[in-house]
Amino acid sequence: MKAASYFFKTYKEVPREAQTPSHILMHRAGMIQKLSSGIYSYLPLALRSLKKIETIIREELDSRGCQEVLMPAVQPGELWEESGRWNYYGPELLRFKDRKNADYCLGPTHEEVITDMVRRNLTSYKQLPLNLYQIQTKFRDEIRPRFGLMRGREFIMKDAYSFDVNEDDAKKSYKIMYDAYNAVFKRCGLEFRAVDAATGAIGGDMSHEFQVLAETGEDEILSCSSCSYSANVEKAVSGKVVEKPQKIGSKDISEVHTPGMKTVEEVASFLSLDPSMLIKTLIYLVDDKPVAVLVRGNCEANESKIQAFLGGNAVAPADEETVKRVTGAEVGFAGPRGLKEGIAILVDKQIYGDTGYACGANKTDYHLTGIDPENDIKADKTGDFTFALEGDPCPHCGGTLKKFRGIEVGQVFYLGTKYSSPMKCIFIDNEGKEQTAVMGCYGIGVSRTMAAAIEQNHDDMGIIWPAAIAPFEVIVIPIQGGNDLVENTAENIYSELKKSGVDVILDDRNLRAGVKFNDADLVGYPVQIICGSRLVEQGLVEIKVRKTGEKSEVKIEEAPEVIKEMLLAL
Ligand code: ATP
Ligand code: MG
Repeated sequence: MKAASYFFKTYKEVPREAQTPSHILMHRAGMIQKLSSGIYSYLPLALRSLKKIETIIREELDSRGCQEVLMPAVQPGELWEESGRWNYYGPELLRFKDRKNADYCLGPTHEEVITDMVRRNLTSYKQLPLNLYQIQTKFRDEIRPRFGLMRGREFIMKDAYSFDVNEDDAKKSYKIMYDAYNAVFKRCGLEFRAVDAATGAIGGDMSHEFQVLAETGEDEILSCSSCSYSANVEKAVSGKVVEKPQKIGSKDISEVHTPGMKTVEEVASFLSLDPSMLIKTLIYLVDDKPVAVLVRGNCEANESKIQAFLGGNAVAPADEETVKRVTGAEVGFAGPRGLKEGIAILVDKQIYGDTGYACGANKTDYHLTGIDPENDIKADKTGDFTFALEGDPCPHCGGTLKKFRGIEVGQVFYLGTKYSSPMKCIFIDNEGKEQTAVMGCYGIGVSRTMAAAIEQNHDDMGIIWPAAIAPFEVIVIPIQGGNDLVENTAENIYSELKKSGVDVILDDRNLRAGVKFNDADLVGYPVQIICGSRLVEQGLVEIKVRKTGEKSEVKIEEAPEVIKEMLLAL
């Protein structure tokens, strides 16, 4: 490819809403163009990189027996009614009607469509296992589209779905995909972690996310510094052991006047207690039913764990009116004793490590002291309802948990029969009995992976592509236009590299050297070959490695071989 006729242009200025490196740099490098909020066009440079990520994905999946299909982006509402998701998938689902007034949506994911496709073909166990995937445009009407391709409304996803005869086989399929994802992100040249994850709205009971480590990541993960345990903070478990209380605090419950004191800090300081000796009583709505969750004052309730524990579709803090109704008090004075409507009380297990707590009295301006959880709180369920913290012991080996920021580029889910059962995706087993297929689903954000690669690999000058997914691996830069020797040398090296299969671009634009160098650093080609007259006259060219900034001079005739060697290590 020759830059003078290539459809790309670099920019100095940055759109006001661009805040993250990948958004800024992809815009400046002329890779993407915004069409509308969260909706982007991919220009040739970006598309080259995307195609390389897609090729890696296809190779890793095809070699593991997955088969590629392509499903429609437009999906009939009927199918979503069948799975039960039409009503509770929120406003992220872009719904519309056709001219006959029938419901449709733009696919945010394809469990319904694939389950329908498979059930219409599946009759016998002999057809299983089956793993089908597609690489396709998804649409999610995100509440806050931002960071360019990282959180778009329209984006490219690879989604795969496995169908098996039973749970054991389905778990084997899950493991195959888990391994495939590790191979994909490794080949993309990214530093990442596979972490234990919550299943959220997709459902199912086992899931891992693939997180590219980057300071700008929206996710937080806790990783053990001694073993391989890694989990999203939504899921991470602390290995802290809750022992029976050593010190016994006051056993007599008293009601204390705490006028206007609503926060943990205010009440703790007024009562001269450590914040950890307060019990926070949080009222949540789980599928519209109120539930009280009790956690220690220094801990934060984890909605994802609460949702996983209760198995509901939606968990959200209750509105003020509900809180007033179930506590009989103003917000800020909820407690476990005397709640109305007999609502369920979930107690975080860490509360059982002490006695002598304070908690709200379900009476405006009053708290109770001297609470012994074992005797004074009627728990319906106890469990882990809080976030593990950095520095907590690892639940597997007792090592120390360390916090990282990450970008979720992929997620794998074991689904069981969540979709196959309501949608009747069935087959006849080897004993002639009807069985329901057991499923898994597996997504990779292809466009997000490209952005994540930049979030992880950039500097003040621009992008630093891992060679495997760079739009071009090498750029040849002739300087001092008009000098035939320089131009011929550059042209020869370019042709030579091209012939041997290296992805190379020749910067034949009639521009000053400084501009070409800046553009090369901005776009982030892994290797630059600089042909200047002084060196070329001595039979040499300069090679610069973008990542390290290292420069070396090599003989012109040896340049192609040296470059090929270098690329293997980048
Ligand atoms: P997130 O938590 O970031 O909203 P998700 O968990 O809802 O993502 P999945 O349903 O697991 O996403 O989708 C599979 C993959 O698709 C994700 O791992 C991510 O890489 C990508 N993805 C999801 N939403 C977006 C988006 N709005 N823009 C770009 N990529 C996305
Ligand atoms: Mg996800």
